Amino acid sequence: MTAIELGVPEVPLRPIAERRASRRIQVGPVAVGGGAPVSVQSMTTTRTSDVGATLQQIAELTASGCQIVRVACPTQDDADALATIARKSQIPVIADIHFQPKYVFAAIEAGCAAVRVNPGNIKQFDDRVKEIAQAAQDHGTPIRIGVNAGSLDRRLLQKYGKATPEALVESALWEASLFEEHGFRDIKISVKHNDPVVMIEAYRQLAEQCDYPLHLGVTEAGPAFQGTIKSAVAFGALLSRGIGDTIRVSLSAPPAEEVKVGIQILQSLGLKERRLEIVSCPSCGRAQVDVYKLAEEVTAGLDGMEVPLRVAVMGCVVNGPGEAREADLGVASGNGKGQIFVKGQVIKTVPESKIVETLIEEAMKIAEQMEQDGVGPGEPAVTVS
Ligand code: SF4
Repeated sequence: MTAIELGVPEVPLRPIAERRASRRIQVGPVAVGGGAPVSVQSMTTTRTSDVGATLQQIAELTASGCQIVRVACPTQDDADALATIARKSQIPVIADIHFQPKYVFAAIEAGCAAVRVNPGNIKQFDDRVKEIAQAAQDHGTPIRIGVNAGSLDRRLLQKYGKATPEALVESALWEASLFEEHGFRDIKISVKHNDPVVMIEAYRQLAEQCDYPLHLGVTEAGPAFQGTIKSAVAFGALLSRGIGDTIRVSLSAPPAEEVKVGIQILQSLGLKERRLEIVSCPSCGRAQVDVYKLAEEVTAGLDGMEVPLRVAVMGCVVNGPGEAREADLGVASGNGKGQIFVKGQVIKTVPESKIVETLIEEAMKIAEQMEQDGVGPGEPAVTVS
């Protein structure tokens, strides 16, 4: 696969915490661990054997900012499709293998950038680790040991009674130790649970006990609203302690939505370069404009902007002028008018009906100047007050 420019800087802009020291693996051209930028992954929902539909969805995911994609491989037809998908995808493809060890070999042979195995449900997997480690070593294919609360090894379920953090961690490290016996350490690990509290504790313990890069995920997080909150809370708790090297938000929603949420989480933590950011107030009884409408119209008008613009949209003069001054561009509203700020200076006052078009016009001017100055994604620059 040709390495593609993902536009991710080597050093995060404002790391919230020192990153946990982890070994680095290469998932195709994307580095994971060892201080590499935290990457965003998703998983296709198409039948993998439907090569056209799968590649179409991967293209959509790539356009939405996804950096690594996983595809399911439950049948021989899916395994047969992997080589074409891996070759034609613009982003690295990970094959997700449950139950059948033979598909692990098929995925490695097919040129997948990595293979995910679930130690809890792969039959006779432990007996074949030596062969798998050899094949993965020969092809330079990393393995993700993906432990999941819903399919925990029966032996550990009996020992712990349920999928506790300790049980998830023991399952993952046991599996990793089998690979280590054969000198294979090109591994990343996930220990997913649907309860963020259990998941956070599992990753915290795992982070202390190994130096493998960690793939964060709250499994079966739920529909978009609930899943977004659960993932943001759990990832935030871990990433703010420097734990986590790649993330997958699991939503009962189209995969591109997962990517949007993942990117927003990283941007909010200063772990990914920001682009457009709208700073808008929630509105209250003091509001002198319709803040929701204003924020929505400005957001829609600036959709797709690549430069890091922070725009402040505020409903009244309480916090309006302050936020508008701090942003690259802002409006402080009141008395049927809007004071327009650019880089902290009031440049004009316009009637309320002209606020949106004026902001968009000024944003375009600033963006053009930023592009001329070679300013890429980074600190955001538009605020609406
Ligand atoms: S800026 Fe004004 S309208 Fe908006 S929440 Fe604050 S006080 Fe209310």
